[in-house]
Amino acid sequence: MSTNHRLEINRGGIECTTKITSQLKRISKSKTTTINMNSNYRQATFLTSVPRVGLAPNDEGLEVAFAGRSNAGKSSALNAITSQKSLARISKTPGRTQQLNFFKIDDNRRLVDLPGYGYAKVPARIKQQWQQAMEHYFQKRRSLCGIFLLMDIRNPLTEFDRQMIEWCQHCKRPLHIALTKSDKLKFGAAKNSLLQVSRTLESEQLKASVQLFSATKKVGIDDAHKILDFWLHLGENKKEFR
Ligand code: GDP
Repeated sequence: MSTNHRLEINRGGIECTTKITSQLKRISKSKTTTINMNSNYRQATFLTSVPRVGLAPNDEGLEVAFAGRSNAGKSSALNAITSQKSLARISKTPGRTQQLNFFKIDDNRRLVDLPGYGYAKVPARIKQQWQQAMEHYFQKRRSLCGIFLLMDIRNPLTEFDRQMIEWCQHCKRPLHIALTKSDKLKFGAAKNSLLQVSRTLESEQLKASVQLFSATKKVGIDDAHKILDFWLHLGENKKEFR
């Protein structure tokens, strides 16, 4: 890992302390520009919206699903990761909020925006239907190579999140958690929350990687790309499909 790379991972944190030097700032800024040029995700385009898993695009290639309780910052994260202003707005279009929205990266790779209910407020019948559909998707979707779960750093591990984590464990799906809106907390508090969530997962023997994320301050985008690259065989892990 290059020095620039390491600095960028720490950038959000370092900037919140008084220790940062102007040199660090300069290097971090130049790296941010490079990251924003990440063309694999930048080229993501809307593919389709489907109300049922059965209507999803062919189960080929690789796809990563983005999950998050509503208002967790999922759309903002998708936009930040793809360096696009309004890609995820498509998912907010009335009628599409309860659908699975697919975004194409290339012919073999997709991102999927899963419906994120306000959970507690959802009527039992809808909740049950949604649970069945998601369970089916987690169990059966062969191209699903990872779940990217967004949780508001100020309210992590909600009932919704736990349900998602449980399905990932049950279906042996790789899970990565991004604690969103990290800019809402001071650096120390954000790091504490990160540690707390990691410890809780570890103590419950739940397998997941965790990171800090802020769409507003562009924190953690490089880390997110690395996980996606790994799952989708992009970047350093590039693998062509035959
Ligand atoms: P979604 O319902 O999960 O798609 O959440 P949105 O992306 O629409 O975000 C919900 C609210 O949180 C909006 O008001 C966003 O502006 C805000 N938000 C999202 N990400 C961030 C962030 O990184 N920092 C801050 N401060 N606010 C954010």
